[in-house]
Amino acid sequence: VSQTLTDMIETSVAARAKKPALVFFGATTAYRELGETIERAAEGLRRLGVQPGDRVALVLPNCPQHVAAFYAILRLGAIVVEHNPLYTARELRHQFEDHGARFAIVWDKVYDTIAGFPSDLAVAGIVSVDITEALPFAKRLALALPIPKARKARAQLTAKPEAKHPFPWSRLIGGRRISRKHERPGIDDVALLQYTSGTTGSPKGAILTHRNLRANAMQGRAWVPGLHEGEETFYGVLPLFHAYGLTLCLTFAMSIGAKLVLFPKFDVALVTDAVRQSPPTFLPAVPPIYDQLARASARGTVDLSSVRFAISGAMSLPVSTVDKWEVATGGLLVEGYGMTETSPVALGNPIGPSRRPGTVGVPFPSTEIRVVDPEDPTIEVPFGERGELLLRGPQVFQGYWKRPDETAAALLSDGWLRTGDIVTVSADGFITIVDRLKELIITGGFNVSPSEVEEALQSHPDVDAAAVVGLPRESGGEEVVAAVVARQGAELDTDALRDYARTRLTAYKVPRRIVLVDDLPRSLIGKVLRKQVRDQLIGS
Ligand code: ATP
Ligand code: MG
Repeated sequence: VSQTLTDMIETSVAARAKKPALVFFGATTAYRELGETIERAAEGLRRLGVQPGDRVALVLPNCPQHVAAFYAILRLGAIVVEHNPLYTARELRHQFEDHGARFAIVWDKVYDTIAGFPSDLAVAGIVSVDITEALPFAKRLALALPIPKARKARAQLTAKPEAKHPFPWSRLIGGRRISRKHERPGIDDVALLQYTSGTTGSPKGAILTHRNLRANAMQGRAWVPGLHEGEETFYGVLPLFHAYGLTLCLTFAMSIGAKLVLFPKFDVALVTDAVRQSPPTFLPAVPPIYDQLARASARGTVDLSSVRFAISGAMSLPVSTVDKWEVATGGLLVEGYGMTETSPVALGNPIGPSRRPGTVGVPFPSTEIRVVDPEDPTIEVPFGERGELLLRGPQVFQGYWKRPDETAAALLSDGWLRTGDIVTVSADGFITIVDRLKELIITGGFNVSPSEVEEALQSHPDVDAAAVVGLPRESGGEEVVAAVVARQGAELDTDALRDYARTRLTAYKVPRRIVLVDDLPRSLIGKVLRKQVRDQLIGS
């Protein structure tokens, strides 16, 4: 790895100047134009006062400005901090309290929230982005996107004249480009503070350098066979504010000069519309998205036969989803594994006939693994047995922001990262994720993997989704309890479902209790939040 992300994007801009870089509701931005916007935004941010090493918050949905802002911040040697723009004011405030960014580039919808933070947070400059700005008026109206009201914005300004230099994106990029002589970031400079999903606790800020992120894009490049540089079309349906969408779309796609079609939210209708103009060749997504697209494709609503690379990650991919997708589109769907702390991809299936559904594949190029006893990570478990996965490679992060204890617990002294995930490895090296260590249920001395029980329940035709957790038992230990969502229109009898589970699972794994629920709590990327399910079941 020798290039920073700044070098990387400049190389792509120079090599592909006239090629389309971004498409947003039909409006195309060429690489040259993207490069120019990045340089102007960098100069605008410099004038606002952004210095090397400063943290700059991005609170944006997927949009062209998100891409330009990301690289403009990096160009200054400053640090991007991504946020979910749909987080509540409280969640956003917690993150701002944690990272203390002095500058923010935000969706105009959340401007009031950020500007309203207590003054001790000291967000000195807030750039506000109207994501529909570049679109024709008719398109704005036709879109179900929220359109900011000009009058309201003006009223806001007069009501709060002290409102911390709010100014529009168009003004930020209205001036000159940054001078070529302005200091550039170094390869080991921090590029990104990326919060984890918060599935097991509150989100932690993972510190990632240019080297970490550039390495992961290069590992991706080496992993995917038959890529045509400058010719691929990526669909950005995953949020760019999450590690997975960020690396696949913001860095990997841009590093190979791809065209990136951006979707501010996932919606089958939006995808269907876009396919006519720009058929996708590369679609990184998560199982719930593949499920929906496979169904639409099977109905003939959308033609996804152009997709050559469909890559699933972030949560386990049911084999039934693989089958549905492959039958409907005629292409392969392969699973990988990663975490925010590994930039994020660490393991992946070969893209081709040797991929193995139900597993997450093999280590990425330049990535080493060990499988150890979670009680003592210096002890390797016998080959083939369950143990905690350790990872080492150039994509492994530098530690958690302001959390030395958690950093010390996760990063062992010789560069190995404790993933907290329990895995098994087959004789020929394919890795299966069993579950998170923290979520294994201990019942009467046995370990139950909630995923295994969920899979058994979900194989019932009337079950739409299931989440399995361990609830404390008065006699000590835990008991297996399931929250189940019935398929629409189905009459689901919980006793019958337990009988069904008995035919598939050993007695101690069968849920003691099955609770019917309307919905499961999920993270924005679609992961079931078992911790919340547990809290709800305890409260019920
Ligand atoms: P937090 O660390 O804040 O509790 P999180 O671990 O969900 O949240 P991420 O970094 O987004 O945050 O997710 C990484 C985790 O996602 C992994 O540790 C693993 O448990 C899970 N994961 C990722 N890919 C897969 C996969 N293919 N199959 C099963 N689990 C996966
Ligand atoms: Mg985690």
